[in-house]
Amino acid sequence: MSTICAISTPMAEGGISVIRISGENAVSIAEKVFKPFTCESVGSMAGYTCAYGQIHDGGKTVDDGVLTVFRAPHSYTGEDVCEISCHGGIYVTKRVLRLCLDNGCEPAQAGEFTKRAMLNGKLSLTQAEAVMDTIAAQGEYALASANLTRQGSLFGRIHEVSDKLVKLLGELAAWVDYPEEDLPAVEETALRESLENAVSVTDKLLADCDNGMLIKHGIDTVIAGRPNVGKSTLMNLLLGYDRSIVTEVAGTTRDVIEESAKLGELIFRLSDTAGIRDTDDRVEKIGVEMAEKRLDECMFVIEVFDTSVKPDEDDIALLEKVKSLGKRTLIVLNKSDLESAVEESFFKKYSDDIVYISAKNRDDRAQIQKAAEKIFTPENYDAHSTIFANERQRACLDKANRNLKAALEALGMGETLDAVTVMIDYAANSLLELTGEKATEAVVSEVFSKFCVGK
Ligand code: GDP
Repeated sequence: MSTICAISTPMAEGGISVIRISGENAVSIAEKVFKPFTCESVGSMAGYTCAYGQIHDGGKTVDDGVLTVFRAPHSYTGEDVCEISCHGGIYVTKRVLRLCLDNGCEPAQAGEFTKRAMLNGKLSLTQAEAVMDTIAAQGEYALASANLTRQGSLFGRIHEVSDKLVKLLGELAAWVDYPEEDLPAVEETALRESLENAVSVTDKLLADCDNGMLIKHGIDTVIAGRPNVGKSTLMNLLLGYDRSIVTEVAGTTRDVIEESAKLGELIFRLSDTAGIRDTDDRVEKIGVEMAEKRLDECMFVIEVFDTSVKPDEDDIALLEKVKSLGKRTLIVLNKSDLESAVEESFFKKYSDDIVYISAKNRDDRAQIQKAAEKIFTPENYDAHSTIFANERQRACLDKANRNLKAALEALGMGETLDAVTVMIDYAANSLLELTGEKATEAVVSEVFSKFCVGK
């Protein structure tokens, strides 16, 4: 395999930049461009050691810096790796990169270092993907989940299921293909038990995946309520800046405004919708329909009411609708600065999570955060049981789960073991594709094409 190099730090001015070289000629190429002051030669450097020295082009100084040497297989890629840290200017960094290229390196492709790590057995495909998630993490939960996946938690959980399926397939194949041999029959009850177990584990994994999606992309949240209760004001309070138009005219928010707000460690994707009410205005009607659709799709509803007036039929219709949809909800009784005309007990019938706030008061943001954290942590939003999966992984898991369920159904309908085996085979293959143990070259290339160069 060729020896590759790339700039591993961002292309911007900074204190230092790192140029990474990996491959069998890494040390000899580094030797040509780096003259150590603190040891005899680059070639004599052991793994996990570094030296200060001159980065030079045929003897002419380019910069001074630090060289770190990693010896195969004890490196990120599993190959010999040298990392040159130079001053963090854009020109000087590119100059050092060119020096490495001129002395025998090939330019690395996007994600090629991590791809090599995978090919050399240092990482599974899921761990490689988690490297990308670690880089992209925007909060504590996201980082904790990515770290767990990187340490192999997802791989381990999937591997356990796929291992059992592969073993089962072996037994089934032996029994079906060699009926004349005196092999023990695959008991239908035992087979059913194994499949049920695999279905329940993959069901749980899928649910955990969905939690992971929430952490990664934010909780899909709708702010609902009839016009003029203060939804836009609340949206602005949560965002920390004025995004929605706030007016005293009912029905002003006609489209659906979407923004992300971070409350503590939780990210909410907020939709401030048109108030849901009966209306003859054609444009407002479209807004109301969009609001209802968003309500159907979302994960979490913040229901807003004006405490200074008694709940009317639109308010009750909203409460009933959200309740019937079974959504997680927070009831916000807004305009607490005005005299109250509502009974809390009335709202208690719809949710245990109720806050009194004035959306005009910045300090009340903390109350919403506290209430939201209670709803989403810790049991139902635990980073430690969460899988930080991506769409590819989820699709593989889903396919495996569907095939396992189909196999169970086929078994129940008295289909032949041959037919059941085919479905178990599909399920096992999907799981092996997920972990990368049986992923095609196309899948692997697709995964790494999303990486940055230098990683
Ligand atoms: P929306 O139609 O539900 O989006 O309501 P808006 O956010 O546009 O607010 C409607 C009106 O209520 C505006 O005049 C706001 O200034 C006012 N308003 C919003 N929140 C409060 C509050 O907490 N207290 C008081 N007194 N007025 C508020």
